[in-house]
Amino acid sequence: MIILKTGRELEIMKEACRISAGALKLVGEAIEPGITTGELDRLAEEYILKQGGKPNFKGYGGFPATACISINDEVIHGIPSKERKIKAGDIVSVDLGASYDGYNGDNAATFAVGEISPEAKRLIKTTEESLYEGIKMARHGGRIGDIGHAVQKYVEERGYSVVRQFVGHGVGTSLHEAPEVPNFGNPGHGVRLVNGMTIAIEPMVNMGTYNVRTLSNNWTVVTADGKLSAHFEHTVAITSDGPVILTRA
Ligand code: MG
Repeated sequence: MIILKTGRELEIMKEACRISAGALKLVGEAIEPGITTGELDRLAEEYILKQGGKPNFKGYGGFPATACISINDEVIHGIPSKERKIKAGDIVSVDLGASYDGYNGDNAATFAVGEISPEAKRLIKTTEESLYEGIKMARHGGRIGDIGHAVQKYVEERGYSVVRQFVGHGVGTSLHEAPEVPNFGNPGHGVRLVNGMTIAIEPMVNMGTYNVRTLSNNWTVVTADGKLSAHFEHTVAITSDGPVILTRA
């Protein structure tokens, strides 16, 4: 069931999303060669709690941390660790969220560590831009397939692929609610978009094949061919004023 949000509910979600965006920004600014993913996770959790939020990934499906931190060929769901050090030249995808007063925010971004290859830079830029192509289509009267199609077209025209096995989602009192928001699809198909829907649009873009596999820790998803992957996500409200990005930092 798709749960539409009232204006009052959107105000609470804005706060959850403000905290989520602030935590993501903070982690992005703290990323440097030598820092561990465990330390980045600690910074995110401390920030969220200080802002009066709760780290909504922690414990979700048993996930052990506040942030998913996925490096290079890791697509999503990387588990932070005190042993895992970030190196110059890495690309680091951070996905995290906060809940506030029972409502959830969710956002992600991929950060470059020091000098990275021009190919990696282009992948990151394309992934971020594809997110905005998708957001443009989050309008009353449209369809879910309009969003996925816009993302997929933008990505594939630039020679990359969109992950099929994981998708975006509705977000509200639950971190994941209906509908699913794939990063691929056909225009004019799928669930109808209406004002009051709140969705997380999150392109996961691979340099090579879209196939992925999950590591033996049962969480970390990596590209099947070992090539790089990037990930950007915003929580977006569909309103009579058009799409509103709730997780804008
Ligand atoms: Mg999400």
